[in-house]
Amino acid sequence: MSITAETGTQLREGAFGPAVELVCRECGATRDLGPHYACHECFGPLEIGYRFGEVTREQIEAGPRNIWRYKALLPVPDDIESSPNTEPGFTRLLEARNLAAELGLSRLWVKDDSTNPTNSFKDRVVAIALSAARELDAKVFACPSTGNLANAVAAAGARAGIRTVVFIPSNLETPKQVNSAIFTENLVAVDGTYDDVNKLASEIAGEEDGWAFVNVNVRPYYAEGSKTLGYEIAEQLGWRLPDQIVIPVASGSQLTKVHKAFTELVKLGLVEDKPYKVFGAQAEGCNPVATAFKDGVDAIRPVKPDTIAKSLAIGNPADGIYVLDITRETGGSVEQVTDDEIRAAIVQLARTEGIFTETAGGTTVGVLKKLVETGQLDPELETVVINTGHGLKTLDAVSGSVGPVATIAPTYDAFDAAGIA
Ligand SMILES: *Cc1c(COP(=O)(O)O)cnc(C)c1O
Ligand SMILES: [Zn+2]
Repeated sequence: MSITAETGTQLREGAFGPAVELVCRECGATRDLGPHYACHECFGPLEIGYRFGEVTREQIEAGPRNIWRYKALLPVPDDIESSPNTEPGFTRLLEARNLAAELGLSRLWVKDDSTNPTNSFKDRVVAIALSAARELDAKVFACPSTGNLANAVAAAGARAGIRTVVFIPSNLETPKQVNSAIFTENLVAVDGTYDDVNKLASEIAGEEDGWAFVNVNVRPYYAEGSKTLGYEIAEQLGWRLPDQIVIPVASGSQLTKVHKAFTELVKLGLVEDKPYKVFGAQAEGCNPVATAFKDGVDAIRPVKPDTIAKSLAIGNPADGIYVLDITRETGGSVEQVTDDEIRAAIVQLARTEGIFTETAGGTTVGVLKKLVETGQLDPELETVVINTGHGLKTLDAVSGSVGPVATIAPTYDAFDAAGIA
């Protein structure tokens, strides 16, 4: 892999804002910022290390209504708003009173990330990755994807005027394929699982010059985008942390970064410190982290995915071990639901709150229900559940479950006979 910085190009002063170094998540070794993602000592994954200046609530609140209001906490330059991007974030946090009543919860919120520019939370991570790709002078903006990431990369790249190439498993839902192909000429369907696609991407990143694979060789930057979900939830709750939060797990990156965001807010004095529990949600058809949690082991055994929750279908999750650490440390858990439970949860969220979620959200809401039923979640405490994507992208999952209650002639008699009134 060589985006140009590695071959000697100087980084622009302030290219990564408050970020000062890359830190190995395994051994703590540090190295300079650049297009690196693996530790030179132990090959562990790198993440961004910061030296934050003073950050105040007022300063954040005066910012734009998108993720750049948190730019003082992200690896982006101070002039980030002047570069074309998709400006995701500041999505609504809805109090879900009807769903709470059905589930027997006293206070429940849905963080609805289906309203981002390409209708999933992936616009957040891609916006940071695009900034990094630009600062590293990448020529191609690329990704292996379970669907939503490809949509976000293709759209952001189009707006930024950078060449995009996105790779997906060939069995992906048609809406997700079209949602990428509409933005890029280079949608590549690969006959294999996501894990095969991911491996291919690593190989291409090693062979080709100037390719920024958002979730491979610029992953440390990309991953930080998920922190904005945590910042927003805290700010929208009136600068406090929830008691319990339920987050879907594919690679596990989002869950680990929401936790990182909460930790940073406490350290910076922006919210009060308090205990909170983090829960992870997986589908039974792709449950490597849930299985390791249940078995009480640290090693994650890869699986071959078979579930309608295709956006969560990563059989060998890169951040799985960190998800285990965080859920165990905070007193949460990683639970799983069947495809039928996912479908039922999609319908339940739609009919209680008017939110149409995709299969990943069905997984998360299904797990929420299960956590209540099994007593793992305290119904008296305040809970947040993250809806990460839009149901229009996974219509097939529920098209057999819902439809017309009757098909009638255009006459009052026919309506009357149908017994709907
Ligand atoms: C990618 C994705 C996730 C999970 O992301 P990770 O950070 O890889 O765990 C959740 N929901 C949707 C809709 C996604 O597309
Ligand atoms: Zn290391």
